[in-house]
Amino acid sequence: MQPFTRINFIEKLNFLNIFILVGRDEKDIMREFLELNPPEKFWDEIKSFLKDKTLSTEKLNLDTALGRILAEDIYSPVDLPPFSRSTVDGYAVKAIDTAGASASMPTYFEVIGSIEMGAAAELNLKSGEAAAIPTGGMLPEGADAVLMIEDTEKIEANSIESFRSLAAGENLVQKAEDIAAGELLFKKGHKLMARDIGALAGLGITEFKGAAKAKVSVISTGDELVSAEAEAEAGQIRDINSYSITAYLNKIGAAAKKVGIVEDEFESLKRAVKNELNQDLVLISGGSSVGIKDMTIDLLNSLGEPGVLLHGLAIKPGKPTILAIIEGTIVIGLPGHPASAWTVNNVLVAEIVRVLNGEKEAAEIGCSNNKYPIKAELTRSLVSDKGREEYIPVRIFKDKDKLMAEPLLGKSSLITNLAYGDAVLKVPRNQEGKEKGEIVELTLIE
Ligand code: AMP
Ligand code: MG
Repeated sequence: MQPFTRINFIEKLNFLNIFILVGRDEKDIMREFLELNPPEKFWDEIKSFLKDKTLSTEKLNLDTALGRILAEDIYSPVDLPPFSRSTVDGYAVKAIDTAGASASMPTYFEVIGSIEMGAAAELNLKSGEAAAIPTGGMLPEGADAVLMIEDTEKIEANSIESFRSLAAGENLVQKAEDIAAGELLFKKGHKLMARDIGALAGLGITEFKGAAKAKVSVISTGDELVSAEAEAEAGQIRDINSYSITAYLNKIGAAAKKVGIVEDEFESLKRAVKNELNQDLVLISGGSSVGIKDMTIDLLNSLGEPGVLLHGLAIKPGKPTILAIIEGTIVIGLPGHPASAWTVNNVLVAEIVRVLNGEKEAAEIGCSNNKYPIKAELTRSLVSDKGREEYIPVRIFKDKDKLMAEPLLGKSSLITNLAYGDAVLKVPRNQEGKEKGEIVELTLIE
């Protein structure tokens, strides 16, 4: 049984949608109320802000492109390959001249020359003629297939016999077979992988427009916090969130930086946030719930318009989340508990970063990002709060041929569950839990 505090009393009333306004003005109530807003409400506000935001772009080159997002469509300027090439070592021929050939009935060719690697093929084959050609060599005029060296035998210095019958186009890549000049290679929004950089290089595209990385600042607040390098004295704990969150956001392509630890004091925190308002996104970890020192809401409202839009997100863990927009910058107040901060960061913040990074359209966010979910069998039953989406870390292991998912249950202040978890299980808002033995879909933790 939870102690009967003012906070859980308000929460319970809120859950029943009862609002008691006794002798207080509306602003006062809004400030202290932590509502259970469904995630969709957050998405709606974020989408309507992001759809009008102009994203910055920058010039990328082949050395800086890995993992970056294209801000333009890329069309091939040339044919690739620029000429038809052999895919084997052998002899370029006219396919029709090989018709009917077999081991017992070879056909004969006169070898009129050989193609040099990296040089134009200046020969012009006539019927019954062949030209020696290396893998990757340019097909000479008049040839339409290549005999593999293994399917031939040299008879004299300038003649061979062939034991194979070829179809036109065999053992070669046609000019422009890979991509033709003017054809679309990558769409705007495409994330450039190592293999893509090879394709761009092959087409001679060395500079292109990329989306600028989302500029994110992460502030940790709490009088009890010290940095990771510091000794934690009695009553103090080391900052976890600004490290894990910055690392994660950088991994998904943001330019995220740690601002450091700011004390739980109105003016200090206000100054710290104000300093970062030139960023695209500011995260404040801690001080987002309704507590004696939690003045985040007030100070955000004092920094500019429109200020705080929502306070309270119906996910577990992660309820005390704040969404504010201040003069064009999104500010998110994250709960201080590491597992809560991590969850909100993955569910909400990472999606905002993907839009700011140009990877997703504003309209696409909020839906599952899990293109390839892992399926595993649950090792035990789980009870979940109805009314809140719940995110539970799980360990994945193999039992004979089956993949098993073991929920790592614990308080949201624990970090080892996250560290030992391989994936996250989402229990939707309308479900009261999951059954042991159920096959569930998981999202890997990065
Ligand atoms: P708060 O959201 O500020 O009420 O903090 C909730 C809990 O999370 C408290 O136990 C804090 O000590 C803890 N906490 C807050 N910020 C951090 C942080 N950056 N790293 C680790 N724990 C934190
Ligand atoms: Mg705090």
